[in-house]
Amino acid sequence: MRTNNQENTLNKSINSRYWLPALAASLLAAPPAFSGGSAAVHKYTISVDYSMTRLWVEARFASPVTSFTARSRAAGKFLIDVRGCNSDQSIRLRNNRMMLPESGIRCINYTVDLAKASRFDRRYRDLAPDNIVASPALWLWRPEITRHSEILARLRLPNDVRASVPWQALDSAEQTYRLTRSPESADAPVAFGKFDYRDIKVSGATLTVSLLHGKKAIDQRAVLNWIQANANGISQVYGRFPNPAPQILVVPTSGVRGDTEAIYGEVIRNGGDTVQLFINPEKSLKALMSDPTVAHDFSHLMLPYLNLRNQWISEGFAQYYQNVFLARSGIYDAQHSWQKLYEGFELGRRSRPELSPNEASEGGVRTGLMKMYWSGAAIALMADVELRKHSVGTESLDTVLGRLQRCCLPANRMWSGIELFEKLDSLSDDPVFMPLYRRYADTAGFPNTTELLARLGLSASNGKIRIRRNGELTRIRAAITQKQPPTIQPNRLAAR
Ligand SMILES: [Zn+2]
Repeated sequence: MRTNNQENTLNKSINSRYWLPALAASLLAAPPAFSGGSAAVHKYTISVDYSMTRLWVEARFASPVTSFTARSRAAGKFLIDVRGCNSDQSIRLRNNRMMLPESGIRCINYTVDLAKASRFDRRYRDLAPDNIVASPALWLWRPEITRHSEILARLRLPNDVRASVPWQALDSAEQTYRLTRSPESADAPVAFGKFDYRDIKVSGATLTVSLLHGKKAIDQRAVLNWIQANANGISQVYGRFPNPAPQILVVPTSGVRGDTEAIYGEVIRNGGDTVQLFINPEKSLKALMSDPTVAHDFSHLMLPYLNLRNQWISEGFAQYYQNVFLARSGIYDAQHSWQKLYEGFELGRRSRPELSPNEASEGGVRTGLMKMYWSGAAIALMADVELRKHSVGTESLDTVLGRLQRCCLPANRMWSGIELFEKLDSLSDDPVFMPLYRRYADTAGFPNTTELLARLGLSASNGKIRIRRNGELTRIRAAITQKQPPTIQPNRLAAR
């Protein structure tokens, strides 16, 4: 997911027509694998100038296009010039829509004020001058991408400038990308600049971590070792990393969430899976290894993006797995993991008891954030225990999620919770998921975990969890957090 243009011929007066024939030739030489072979393919060439102040796009469409929009309503502010490829006439913009001829248009050229677009999101304000981030939401104008259409985008960057994008790379030099239909959960980042990157090998994936440069340096080695350890941990859940090529972006910033946190992460599903980690270089990273941010974000990748009403499943499964796999990989000890889960369940129980998980998710932060974050974790534990119990240990939430990944991930659309739980039931001998959904998703309160924890041999007094030898399900408890040897050692990831 990076681009380092080998050609040095690009200059400020680039004319994109100059290299379109080269694109056509390269596409003929190595035809990309289109889904079903019948997709309508729009061909984009995207160029950035040396100073990264301008971006040019030439868009050639599979058939005449009458609607051409950008995801963000602010995108019009950054457009400098738009015209048909063979026309001197500018195309005007009205209410964020291009005024295209009724018969449609086959090819459009446009210019974007990239410098201005890169200042739009304040979270990137502390980047070094030769590193910028501008979401395609602000500059990628396009027809709708459907099940039957896609965009092939070729990036043309100045020498030494690379890009980090969420899209699927099609060639080994990673200059051509495929954009298909996706859930569009939020605006995805695209970074351009002279930044560092490292490939981290884990089972099932090579993760390219792009490390943007900030005004102040971050400890790249520590951050990379942290990402590596967590990537190994998540890869052990079912033997491989959930996505073979996610975009991973490390962004130095002086202030996220009111300057109180050293690290803030987010997962975006738009054009691909993006894990974006904001790190404050002013804060101590001493406790980095035990910081669960990246464990939580990687755990999200094990499920498709879910609709708002069922976000408690996304957040809850991530909360469950971050604690489980941090214990398995030895970053937490088992007691600490169960303590965290117990405390989470208690927070969830106290959070807006009059609401159901579905209601809390719809209301978001205002209506019971902790219920949203922890009710799904309780359901994940319940499902995991049931699967392990009925199969005498041969099945678990791990094995079922492994099958989900094989069949359905990365997903190109938003799922509902019912759809997910029905699918998980179809992937296991024992349908445990939908019974849990029917019982808890629309029921006020919090799933009752007290009895289950006791059966797992966990007792709580004064807010402290103790692991006991006695309990009907102690073997299952031990198996859930069983330490596993690392498949790939955290290694010499010295950053340049
Ligand atoms: Zn989350």
